[in-house]
Amino acid sequence: MAAVSLTVPAPRTGFLVVQPLRRKYCAGCRRGPLPMLVLEDAAPRCLDCADLGHLVFLPRGDTALTRRSREESGLSAVVVRFNRRKGRYERQGVLVEEAALTRAEERCLADAEARRRRRTRDARHRAAQDERFAETFAAEILRLLPGCPAGRARGIAAHASLRGSGRVGRSAAGRALSEGAVVSAVVASVRHLDTPYDRLLMSGVPRHEARRRIAADMEARIRTWREGGDGTDETVP
Ligand SMILES: [Zn+2]
Repeated sequence: MAAVSLTVPAPRTGFLVVQPLRRKYCAGCRRGPLPMLVLEDAAPRCLDCADLGHLVFLPRGDTALTRRSREESGLSAVVVRFNRRKGRYERQGVLVEEAALTRAEERCLADAEARRRRRTRDARHRAAQDERFAETFAAEILRLLPGCPAGRARGIAAHASLRGSGRVGRSAAGRALSEGAVVSAVVASVRHLDTPYDRLLMSGVPRHEARRRIAADMEARIRTWREGGDGTDETVP
């Protein structure tokens, strides 16, 4: 074990506890083999003899819990084990006071609960924002294209403003409700619902050719809506 003491990394704070790879016995009370030991003058001692027997082991993995447990603990130790393949000691966890671990767990739970509440609040806020945005968008469609049926405008606006959809309504231009963004949302809707565009695509017509074939219908529909036509041949979205 003498070689070990040369390569064990110095602890930043607290004690260093080793999980031995070979069978080790306590130099004080002769107990063993020891699952964890402390080296005192290169001699292994059990945790009880090292006055660390009251501490509990917290395996590595939860960074926040580990940090808080050590903050809460008056006495703590870092537990390491030698990795033969890598030729170095690796952290396995920490030893902390049981009460400290309990307090740390409570703090982490409180945080998780706070985060959960915040997420719910944020989601509600976003939903309300989306709704307001869709209403504004629909109003803008009707201002630019007064002939567009109101239900249709609401459908287009809701579709265009779906969060995270990457559709035009979510883009910066859509957010600013530029005329271009509003009209292209309407154009996309008309193309798919009021023209045979999708059917042409499905039957193998190339996209540009399909667009060319429906161009006249498209323009007529948009012009009618711009001029305030009554949109009698509305297709429900
Ligand atoms: Zn002992």
